[in-house]
Amino acid sequence: MFIFFHVNFVLRLKLLILWINLIKKILNSLHKQQKIVNFTKKMKKIDYLIVGQGIAGTVLSYSLLQANKKILLADPNLPNSSQVAAGMFNPITGNKMNKTWLADDIFPYLHQFYAQLENLLKVNFLHSKPIYRPFDSIEKQNYWISNSVDVSHYVNHNFPKNKYNYLLNNHFGGLEILQGGNIDTKILLKNYQDFLRKNDFFVETEVLENDLIFEKNKVIWKDIEAEKVIFCRGFTEKDSELFDFLPFQPAKGEILTVYLPNLKSDSILNKNVWILPIGNDFYKIGSTYEWIDLSFTPTKIARAHILAEANKMIEILEQDVVNQEVGVRPATQDRRPFLGFHKEFPQIGIFNGLGTKGISLAPFMAKIFVNCLVLGQKIDTLLDIQRPFRKYSP
Ligand SMILES: Cc1cc2nc3c(=O)[nH]c(=O)nc-3n(C[C@H](O)[C@H](O)[C@H](O)COP(=O)(O)OP(=O)(O)OC[C@H]3O[C@@H](n4cnc5c(N)ncnc54)[C@H](O)[C@@H]3O)c2cc1C
Repeated sequence: MFIFFHVNFVLRLKLLILWINLIKKILNSLHKQQKIVNFTKKMKKIDYLIVGQGIAGTVLSYSLLQANKKILLADPNLPNSSQVAAGMFNPITGNKMNKTWLADDIFPYLHQFYAQLENLLKVNFLHSKPIYRPFDSIEKQNYWISNSVDVSHYVNHNFPKNKYNYLLNNHFGGLEILQGGNIDTKILLKNYQDFLRKNDFFVETEVLENDLIFEKNKVIWKDIEAEKVIFCRGFTEKDSELFDFLPFQPAKGEILTVYLPNLKSDSILNKNVWILPIGNDFYKIGSTYEWIDLSFTPTKIARAHILAEANKMIEILEQDVVNQEVGVRPATQDRRPFLGFHKEFPQIGIFNGLGTKGISLAPFMAKIFVNCLVLGQKIDTLLDIQRPFRKYSP
C-alpha cells in the first residue's frame, strides 16, 4: 500500500514538473515573441537613408521628398565643401568659353528647382546675376565671334558698352553671360536642415559602415530599417570601404572674402579668377586648385595667387581681405558624377562626384537618380558607377 502510494506520488510529482516546465517554455516563447514584436515596433521604416548633407544630400533628399518618399538624412555637421563654395552657376565656362556640359538641360531645371526650395523654406538664397568675362586679347575676341552661335542665347547682346569701363584692362571688350548667378549655400543648407529637423527627417550623427546590417532588399541602421542607403559623403568617399574603387580626384580649393566699398558691382567678374558680389560691399574671390595637400589649412600661396589674379581686373589690397576659407571638391578623374549602386549590395547607392560644379549639376543629376529609384529608369552609362574606368595615369 505504502509502495503503491509512493510510486503514485513520484509519478504525480514528475508529471507536475513536466507541466511546470512546459508552461515555462510556453511563457518563455511568448516573451521572446513579444520582444521581437516590440523590437519591430520600435524600428522606424523609411524608404531612403541619406548619408551626408552637402549640396548632394540636400538636393537628392528634397527630390525624394517631392516624389513622396520617406527619408532620413544623417550628417555630423562637420565643415564641408558645399558651405565654402561660392555657389556660382555659369553656362559658359573654360578657356575656350564653351557651353558647359548639359547646359541646355541643367540650367532651366536648376532655376526651377532652387526657386521651389526657396518657396518651401521661405528664404532667399538664389541670386541671378550677369557674369562679365573680359577678353584678354584680340584673338580671344575673334575666336569668340566665330564660335558663339551655339551659345548665343546665353549672352546679352545689348548691354551698355561702357558698363564695365571701371575694370583695369577692358580694352578688348567682353561677354555678358546670362542665366548665371549664385546660390548662398550657407543659407540653403542651414534652413533646409532646420526644415528636416522640424519634421524628424534629420539626425546629427555620422553613419559608420560597420553599423549597417545588410538584409535582403533592406538595410538596418540602429533603429532604422531603410529600403536603401544612399551615400553623399563628398570627397571623403574615396577612403570608404564600399566605394574606394571609384576614381575620385579630390581638389582642394581656397576662397577669399573681401570688403570693397567702392566697387559697387552687381555682376560677377570672371577672368582667371572670379569676383562675386555677396551684398553689403562684400565680395568672394576665388579659387585655387590643389590635388596633393587635401588639408583644410588655408595657405599664403593660395591667398597671394588669388589676389594677384584679381588685381588684373580691379585693385584689391591685402588689408581688404576679411576671410579665407578652404574646401575639398569631390572631383573625379573623368570629370563626370558618380551615380548608381554597389554591385554586391544593391541596397547601397552613391550620389557623388559633383566636382567643381555641384550647384548646377546637383538638381538635374538628382532628377536622373530619383527617376531610377522610383520609376526604374536606367542611369546613363556616362554617369553610372558601373561604367568602365580607364586606369588613371598622372
Ligand atoms: C573653394 C571652392 C569653391 C567652390 N565654388 C563652387 C561654385 O562656385 N559653384 C559650384 O557649383 N561648385 C563650387 N565648388 C564645388 C562644390 O563645393 C562641390 O561640388 C559640392 O559642394 C560637393 O557637394 P557634396 O555634397 O558632394 O560634398 P560636401 O559638401 O563635402 O558634403 C559631404 C557631406 O557628407 C558628410 N559626411 C561625410 N561622411 C559622413 C558620414 N560617415 N556620415 C554622415 N555624414 C557624412 C559631411 O559631413 C558633409 O556634410 C567649390 C568648391 C570649393 C572648395
